[in-house]
Amino acid sequence: MPVTHRLVPERPIRLTELPTRGQSFYPAGKEAAKAEFRALRKELAELQYRFYADGRFRLLIILQAMDAGGKDGTIRRVFQGVNPQGVRVTSFKVPSKEELAHDFLWRIHKAVPGNGMIGIFNRSHYEDVLVVRVHNLVPESVWRPRYEQINQFEKMLTETGTTILKFYLHISKEEQKQRFQERVDNPEKHWKFSHDDLKKRALWDAYMAAYEEALNRCTTPWAPWYVIPADQKWYRNLAIARVIVDTIKQLDPQFPPPEGDLSQVVIE
Ligand code: AMP
Ligand code: MG
Repeated sequence: MPVTHRLVPERPIRLTELPTRGQSFYPAGKEAAKAEFRALRKELAELQYRFYADGRFRLLIILQAMDAGGKDGTIRRVFQGVNPQGVRVTSFKVPSKEELAHDFLWRIHKAVPGNGMIGIFNRSHYEDVLVVRVHNLVPESVWRPRYEQINQFEKMLTETGTTILKFYLHISKEEQKQRFQERVDNPEKHWKFSHDDLKKRALWDAYMAAYEEALNRCTTPWAPWYVIPADQKWYRNLAIARVIVDTIKQLDPQFPPPEGDLSQVVIE
């Protein structure tokens, strides 16, 4: 039984006790993992084709992480080769004036996937209990009720046909330092460096506390969190691809039946 890193509602976690390295879960090592990942990615592409054709299901994949935690890389690597027509990535940035004039789920709800679609959230409504909480962007009386509001929103989505997968990419503070340094040193990565990221890094402990509470409060039977050891990209990619493939397999998408008896069709 492969490890999925899935949290369960009855067992709250401490983030400091969860590993950021995946090696021990995959003793065969990096090269074997990469080979398995390539096979899984192929399987994902085939399953997604069927999922899109079937059109009965919706899959929402939520990615959260500290800066440089690997959200972009996960999307690029795991979904490489998947039919772009059936996938929609939404990146949630600092809310616009119009978005701020609405409830925090307004922009989120508009982006959830429709029938046959896989929606990927690069950041999400969880920012509204993370960055918003750590930087006091709204008072506690506003962000505190959001955990329950999120749970109810996600419940409604799952009850109306959306499967939700939530991944927290768990990296160490040391790994973030190395990735930031790479962004500073490598001209091709300069575009990814933001001075604001250093301000957030300085608040690492407050972010960990906020993440921990979000993970514990919003792990529900209908929408659990997965805490993925993400210091090693090869393990992160493999673990996430596995969960997604297993989830779609369980839905068991089928090609729709033909319109009548096609053996009688004559094409002149
Ligand atoms: P990036 O993912 O690097 O493009 O950065 C997007 C930025 O938008 C991050 O600093 C997020 O913390 C910020 N952000 C996303 N959602 C919200 C939100 N609801 N409120 C405030 N900031 C947000
Ligand atoms: Mg950034």
